[in-house]
Amino acid sequence: MSARILDGKAAAADVAEALRPRIAALLAPEASGGIGRPPGLAVVLVGDDRASAVYVRLKTRRAEDLGMLHRQVTLPASTTEAELLAIIDDLNADPQIDGILIQVPLPRGIDKDRVLDRVHPRKDVDGFHPVNTGRLWQRRPTFIPCTPAGVVELLKRTGVALGGKDAVVIGRSNIVGKPMVALLEQLDCTVTLAHSRTVDLAGVVGRADIVIAAVGVLEMVKGDWIKPGAIVIDVGVNKRDDGRLGGDVEFNGAAKRASWITPVPGGVGPMTIAMLMANTVRAAEQART
Ligand code: NDP
Repeated sequence: MSARILDGKAAAADVAEALRPRIAALLAPEASGGIGRPPGLAVVLVGDDRASAVYVRLKTRRAEDLGMLHRQVTLPASTTEAELLAIIDDLNADPQIDGILIQVPLPRGIDKDRVLDRVHPRKDVDGFHPVNTGRLWQRRPTFIPCTPAGVVELLKRTGVALGGKDAVVIGRSNIVGKPMVALLEQLDCTVTLAHSRTVDLAGVVGRADIVIAAVGVLEMVKGDWIKPGAIVIDVGVNKRDDGRLGGDVEFNGAAKRASWITPVPGGVGPMTIAMLMANTVRAAEQART
């Protein structure tokens, strides 16, 4: 078998196009059901992490392309936690801003949880606030973290009936692995959450119809672990020795056995950004009511 490629760039472009009429509707005056302005996204970048700067640029570029208001707040690594919290308070109160994203990692000395908890849950377009996490697990309307939300969109594009499938998520972070488990459960999959203490990861992966790798270790999921016909979604972004990017899955080997597979780059990454735009549009629509 040779896997079909799940093209994240094409999927992200479709998600973005579907947002355009919703953004146009928001521009209408309040009397006509809009909010009289574009959706507003604020992205806060603290310090000089180069990868973060690249991600922030990609996010603001996509927002600009969609005609959204985007404000980038760039702060030096010497910023104190109190200063950062005060900036978040201002953005929470700003009527032009619907969504606030705090780019992680944050510099040492700043308590990430205290900072992320300060973003108002109604503007938490990353879906990291504990209130939104709880709502996700209770299947209530919420902002779903962008990366796992993007993975769900990709899974749906396969056209495969997902209910009852055995899925494994490798990696248990709050931003990818754990919300991914909640979403797969909502799709009626039977889910295993694997991590660094999992015994016999090869065996666990070998039984799975759906494999989601979110680890951050280059090609740690071997091609011959994959069950023939499985769907493989590679969230990992790792730098190879030659500077090129690679995923958590040994792509060539896995592609020989899987039915569908995402490339790195060009798979989950573009979808993460598209889902951030979708969450921001939703936040603006909720500002209307
Ligand atoms: P974290 O570092 O927060 O979590 C990594 C997880 O992998 C941990 O749960 C860890 O287990 C597990 N792990 C580490 N080593 C192994 C191993 N040998 N076997 C099994 N599990 C292992 O990572 P993130 O969730 O933040 O990110 C994961 C990857 O996804 C990274 O490459 C990141 O760059 C990428 N990413 C990509 C995005 C995109 O848009 N494409 C967005 C976000 C992340 P334990 O808990 O036991 O330590």
